[in-house]
Amino acid sequence: MKTFVIASNNPKKVNELNRILNPMGITAKTAKEMGVSLDDVEETGTTFVENARLKARAAFERTKLPCIADDSGLMVDALNGAPGVYSARYSGENATDSANNEKLLAELSEVQPARRTAKFVCVICCILENGKEIIAYGECIGTIATKPQGSDGFGYDPLFIVEGGKSFAQLSPEEKDKISHRGNAIRILKQQLSKEITQGEN
Ligand code: IMP
Repeated sequence: MKTFVIASNNPKKVNELNRILNPMGITAKTAKEMGVSLDDVEETGTTFVENARLKARAAFERTKLPCIADDSGLMVDALNGAPGVYSARYSGENATDSANNEKLLAELSEVQPARRTAKFVCVICCILENGKEIIAYGECIGTIATKPQGSDGFGYDPLFIVEGGKSFAQLSPEEKDKISHRGNAIRILKQQLSKEITQGEN
């Protein structure tokens, strides 16, 4: 099995990637498992691509192994794309999910349901052994509820309503994977990696 380093310590992200990468002969390990710290790498970019690339490049420089990093967030049309790359810290440094959700509801308090359109975005940056970069983009379209719905998931899940009227927090992990921005980006990554592997064999 080939090892790919994931620039994240989130076990959910690593498991999700392993489910897709294992059948391709690839195993995902966190930088920490490889004895490397990325704690000092700050997300200073102003786009999802910049932030994903920053983390993937840092991991690649430090491990010299193929690396994967992602960056994701919520973009609300009535807020000109905010909170965007600042989704995790929308209500301040060390913000909690509930404080972020409260701020979002307050910002949209005057906005009518028809104008509460939004999308989740995920960008994955993968650096291969030879330094080649793959960028995979995924999104999921929805609307922002006027109050939280459901208790599963994390982040803005209880406020993000998808086709059919349920929030992300009311879907099972498998249902969410099928339509989510992260699921879509991982599926694109898989296609791109398969192409690279086939080209490498020819
Ligand atoms: P990161 O890509 O792990 O840095 O996530 C950025 C932030 O975007 C998270 O802290 C959440 O606030 C938000 N976010 C990203 N993906 C999701 C999701 O699937 N559900 C809810 N919130 C999300």
